[in-house]
Amino acid sequence: MHNLASRRVVPGGICPICQTAEETIEHAILLCPWTRAVWFGSKFQWTINPNGLTSFDRWLLKGVNLIKSCSTDLETDLAVLSCIVWNVWKKHCKAIYQSVNPNPWMVIFIINSNQLEWNQSLHSNNQELREEIRTIPDREGWTPPPEGFIKINVDASWLSGNPFCSIGCVARDSNANVLLSSCRKVLAPTPLIAETLAIREGALIGHNLGWNNISIESDCKVAVDAYDAGKQMGEIRVLIQDIKDLQQRFQSCRVKWIARCKNQVSHLIAQLGLKNLLPPGWLWNLPKPIQKALIEDGRGIPPRF
Ligand SMILES: [Zn+2]
Repeated sequence: MHNLASRRVVPGGICPICQTAEETIEHAILLCPWTRAVWFGSKFQWTINPNGLTSFDRWLLKGVNLIKSCSTDLETDLAVLSCIVWNVWKKHCKAIYQSVNPNPWMVIFIINSNQLEWNQSLHSNNQELREEIRTIPDREGWTPPPEGFIKINVDASWLSGNPFCSIGCVARDSNANVLLSSCRKVLAPTPLIAETLAIREGALIGHNLGWNNISIESDCKVAVDAYDAGKQMGEIRVLIQDIKDLQQRFQSCRVKWIARCKNQVSHLIAQLGLKNLLPPGWLWNLPKPIQKALIEDGRGIPPRF
């Protein structure tokens, strides 16, 4: 596009999507705000650093080498990488020629679906699970958010003597479709700090992915009460302020307490994460306990993940 603009084939060389920068290939695929959200929301959870980014080719080579150095499923990971680049480029072109603004989380969803198809074609053992889905009775559990909202369930797992806690998050839409799940270990000196960090993680995920209306659910009553009352609770005061600042960036961002039985999926992710029981590639091939909890939450409707 930059070349076309310099030859005056198209007007101007400014990115038509964000209109804040020159539309180079690096900007279009890596640096435009919506593409950053896609890279962050992808399997690799990469944050793109514009400093030191010289050319897309070099960046891609670095990415491939990084994957080669740590991947346990190289073929799949390289397929995912090409899938992200391809989808981002496709949506960028669509934005220009059809004036359709790209929606980062929809692109992530498409990439996830492509990945799921890829996995299913490799390991077609899901039939057994689908049979189980039909036999799960309704129970009082997780409830989907209203249409247009995304619900992010969060939880932290903390163990005395371990400086790191594990934060589990799962984001679902009003049809119980899983849009994203994540697990991260962070330093947390107390369980309350860990739980509050989990709430902040939910808000950060929503913000990074450009979601406008989110509802965060945590089963830590103390943290949610402190947030609601704006209490000056020493150890989590700064974190609560952080969450409130982030909240301003959404059209709607609710933080709600729910019982543990309604928060099973994020609870499980956090627990398995703390015990290092999440296998590599778990985001794409969810461990069976997590799949079961998702299905129970969906009340017998097979969720898409
Ligand atoms: Zn842009």
